[in-house]
Amino acid sequence: MVAEKQKNHESEKFDVLASTQTVIGEALQKLGYPDEVFELLKEPIRMMTVKIPVRMDDGNVKIFTGYRAQHNDAVGPTKGGIRFHPQVTEKEVKALSIWMSLKCGIVDLPYGGGKGGIICDPRQMSFRELERLSRGYVRAISQIVGPTKDIPAPDVFTNSQIMAWMMDEYSRIDEFNSPGFITGKPIVLGGSHGRETATAKGVTICIREAAKKKGINLEGARVVVQGFGNAGSFLAKFMHDAGAKVVGISDAYGGLYDPNGLDIEYLLDRRDSFGTVTTLFKNTITNKELLELECDILVPAAIENQITEENAPNIKAQIVVEAANGPTTLEATKILTDRGILLVPDVLASAGGVTVSYFEWVQNNQGFYWTEEEVEERLEKVMVKSFNNIYETSQARKVNMRLSAYMVGVRKMAEASRFRGWV
Ligand code: GLU
Repeated sequence: MVAEKQKNHESEKFDVLASTQTVIGEALQKLGYPDEVFELLKEPIRMMTVKIPVRMDDGNVKIFTGYRAQHNDAVGPTKGGIRFHPQVTEKEVKALSIWMSLKCGIVDLPYGGGKGGIICDPRQMSFRELERLSRGYVRAISQIVGPTKDIPAPDVFTNSQIMAWMMDEYSRIDEFNSPGFITGKPIVLGGSHGRETATAKGVTICIREAAKKKGINLEGARVVVQGFGNAGSFLAKFMHDAGAKVVGISDAYGGLYDPNGLDIEYLLDRRDSFGTVTTLFKNTITNKELLELECDILVPAAIENQITEENAPNIKAQIVVEAANGPTTLEATKILTDRGILLVPDVLASAGGVTVSYFEWVQNNQGFYWTEEEVEERLEKVMVKSFNNIYETSQARKVNMRLSAYMVGVRKMAEASRFRGWV
């Protein structure tokens, strides 16, 4: 099963870097940029591979492989999370860094995109092993990161504790207290109010705006959320709070379904720190079944390549909002669009996280901190404006929202690269 997943993950059909490059190429062509701009933007300008030796609790040393990709720093320092996952690959990290550039362009932040990843399974590691791995990674990449160079953050299976260790390690190397080195920190170490829920808040705003366009009333709407990590779990709660009926959720091990709506508060209470909850139940459904459930709104909030040409024809939702990075393949995007389903792409829908990360970095640089209300008010404005900009661009240019998001996202970076005389 795991071997098969890995195969899928690496096969050409599911090559997230190649599919991102295809859409970047289309977007640049529509915007009228020459080929050299595509040549510059199709890959990160910098990619570091590191080996991280970690003394495990049993006394043996294990060597982990990690990556840090910096896509383009014409607009400003690069920015993006660090993923701890057994299926991390070099190509995936590159694609993720490109998506971060697009997100920063879409919500208009003074950043380019970056991303990091370590091949590991944090679910099988102790607290102290994770600390040693996190610190080792920062030592390994310390030359290319920093508050004005490249600013990491959480991603799949990393959290505020890991950010705290990384910030501490960087501060020791830098010989300064450097809260602006990383975002997603605990509040007491300079984290921002509202950062933990930011991705889910941003997705919620996109769902609300998309529902308006489709004439769907959120009150009573049936929602399915795939993934119960940081984005998925908070999103299920916000949907529930908005009066929607969350009829399906899932984690890496399976899904839960109740046509009358699941007890979200209970599930949130029982989930572990990796978002696992379905293992506590007998009556589960598969992730495949979950994606094809009867519902109005489907939110993939797990990992890449979940909606493919195989299941896209069977999706029942009228709106698909991508809270995960890269959950829908290009073929599936076409199928969903042709079927009249409104697809809100990842680079827009999940940009709330990096937006509040930017607020965190601004607060760290100023040493002046905002209230939760201030953060949320600002996030709301940014997301509504970005959603409408991309929706209107898609209508005006007669393209799907993924392509219009890429067009909006890539423009600033292309312009900045030009002004700097790079292309
Ligand atoms: N990992 C998140 C993302 O994929 C957040 C990145 C950040 O906050 O810099 O958007």
